Amino acid sequence: MGVVKSTFEGAMSLIQGMGVTFKHLWRKPVTVQYPKERADVSEVHRNAIVLINKDELGSHGCIACQMCQKICPSVCITVEGSKREGIKTKRPDIFEVDFSLCSDCGLCLDVCPTDTLGYSTEYDLAGYHRDDFIFNLLEPHKDKEETTLQTLRDQEAKKQAERVAKRKADAEAKKKKEAEEAAKDSSTSPESKEKEESKESS
Ligand code: SF4
Ligand code: SF4
Repeated sequence: MGVVKSTFEGAMSLIQGMGVTFKHLWRKPVTVQYPKERADVSEVHRNAIVLINKDELGSHGCIACQMCQKICPSVCITVEGSKREGIKTKRPDIFEVDFSLCSDCGLCLDVCPTDTLGYSTEYDLAGYHRDDFIFNLLEPHKDKEETTLQTLRDQEAKKQAERVAKRKADAEAKKKKEAEEAAKDSSTSPESKEKEESKESS
């Protein structure tokens, strides 16, 4: 009797186990066939930093202020920039990051005044030498630079035109106000009152 009971329990346990297996067999897998497929990463994923596109510029918005370089505790950012014709702010000529030193602390992202630094969605950077981890962040943007410079020049010209138009409008408003005040003063002056009185007596 004991043997029959044990066999029955064993069979039930096997059926239950197979039930769990079959239940999961038809579900969508949570893993991917890496490296043929790549998993989506979360928005809060931290990895190599990149210069991100600004919609209004069609490229990155770095102004080579070097604040990221100054705050980086790992001293792994090198930024050098210069002025371009027709643009007030600088553009970077060199933007390199040594990711063999980067700790993904995020301080560079926090200080960037143009919010143009972000994390990439890469998660499998690999190399054979330390130099393989020195990345030129301008490389993915180099073909867009000329178009972006033209956009920046157009924006600068538009702002300048708006400034001139505002100055002109302010000056005209001031002139009009002064003329109105002068007219008001002359109508309340003693001479004009005398004139009014003589008109009335005649
Ligand atoms: S994430 Fe931190 S360590 Fe990495 S480059 Fe930025 S400031 Fe430096
Ligand atoms: S802080 Fe931002 S704008 Fe300044 S150099 Fe770094 S990436 Fe460029």
